[in-house]
Amino acid sequence: MEHTRVGAFEWERGSPETFTGTVWSTPMSRSPERTVTAIGVMFGPGARTFWHSHPDGQVLYVASGSGRVGNVDGKFVEIAAGDVVYTPAGESHWHGATSSSYLMHISITTGGATVWEPRAVTDEEYNGGAS
Ligand code: MN
Repeated sequence: MEHTRVGAFEWERGSPETFTGTVWSTPMSRSPERTVTAIGVMFGPGARTFWHSHPDGQVLYVASGSGRVGNVDGKFVEIAAGDVVYTPAGESHWHGATSSSYLMHISITTGGATVWEPRAVTDEEYNGGAS
C-alpha cells in the first residue's frame, strides 16, 4: 500500500502553451510499474485546455466545481461533481471550468502522452458557438 498525504502532492502550473487561464495539476499515479496515468487538475473560472486528444481515450471524473467539455461539433456539455465523461481515442476535444466556477477533475488515461494541438479554445468555442 502507498498512502500519499494531501500535503505531499506536488502541484505545477499549466503551461500557457496548452492551457488558457489559471490551471494547476498534480500527478496522482507515481508507482514505477504504472500503466494508468491519473492526474488531478484544478481550473480557475474560465480556464480551459487547448484542443487536444488522447491516444487511448480519456476518462474524466469531476471531483468538485463545475465545467464544460467540448468537441469538434462546436457544442459543449456542462459537467458537475460526480459526473464522468469518456472521450474516445484520438477525438479532438477540450475541457475546463465554467466562467463562474472552478473545476477540479481527475484525468485517467492509458496509452501515453496527450497529443496537444497548438490551438487555444476561442471564447466563441468556449461559449458553444461556431468556431
Ligand atoms: Mn482531454
